[in-house]
Amino acid sequence: MAGKLYLVPTPIGNLGDISRRAAETLERADFIAAEDTRVTVKLLNHLGLKKPMTAYHRHNCETAGPAILRRIEAGESCALVTDAGTPAISDPGEDLVALCAACGVPVESVPGPCALTVALSVSGLPTSRFTFEGFLPLNKKNRKARLEGLAAEERTMVFYEAPHKLRATLGDLAEALGPDRPLAVCRELTKLHEEVLRLTVGEAVELYSAQEPRGEFVLVAAGCPPRQETADEGGALARAEQLRREGMPLKAAAAQAAAEFGVKKRWLYNLVAERGEE
Ligand code: SAM
Repeated sequence: MAGKLYLVPTPIGNLGDISRRAAETLERADFIAAEDTRVTVKLLNHLGLKKPMTAYHRHNCETAGPAILRRIEAGESCALVTDAGTPAISDPGEDLVALCAACGVPVESVPGPCALTVALSVSGLPTSRFTFEGFLPLNKKNRKARLEGLAAEERTMVFYEAPHKLRATLGDLAEALGPDRPLAVCRELTKLHEEVLRLTVGEAVELYSAQEPRGEFVLVAAGCPPRQETADEGGALARAEQLRREGMPLKAAAAQAAAEFGVKKRWLYNLVAERGEE
């Protein structure tokens, strides 16, 4: 096991979810880089392992990352773990993987527990296409922009949230997606009090205004139903494409057809441009 970074997922609540391969990787690695060594030592005790550890977390990653890289380049193998779940998924590790990749250092990911996939798979919502949003930005302007961008998102959306911010996030989702949007509230996954509530965003707002959110949460929201093309929209598109074929520039063709059919100029422009690229 020389000169490699191993991403080792750890249980998100149930110690039984540590895989044999994850345990073997921890055992064979020269050292472990851990988000919180006090948390990881408990896992190592459970597995009966003792290993040299170094801290790698969001507050020291700028200096710890290059130091870990140098050790790997010198031939050591490093197992990266976080407090729970898959390293680099809304967790420290993303930067270290990028650093290794940029320096040609091999990285191997051991598959295992991840709150995202557990929640999505149990949500009862479409899983064939989804977008992982992680934690919404805290900055007001960025948060608003992100939520506005999601209003018409047709794919299922997955969010991570801390309990003390859950109410605010549910309120923001109700505003952006509407109160009737189906939502799975996945709480304490893989733990004793695991709970999956399938309701609407509005119902979730109501529920948690009456009770304190406790535990860890993943929110899975249904995507926006696909926009039905009306006869006018189809007509406008055909007309704009006809004008394009006759040699009219895209902007002018979209503007003229939009005016003739009473549809939005910007919408038609984007649609014709997209279809032109296909
Ligand atoms: N890398 C981890 C993963 O992919 O599973 C996620 C780490 S992120 C810092 C922590 C967030 O994951 C929590 O705030 C929560 O949204 C979600 N999470 C982790 N464990 C969970 C659990 N047992 N049940 C529900 N959500 C969980």
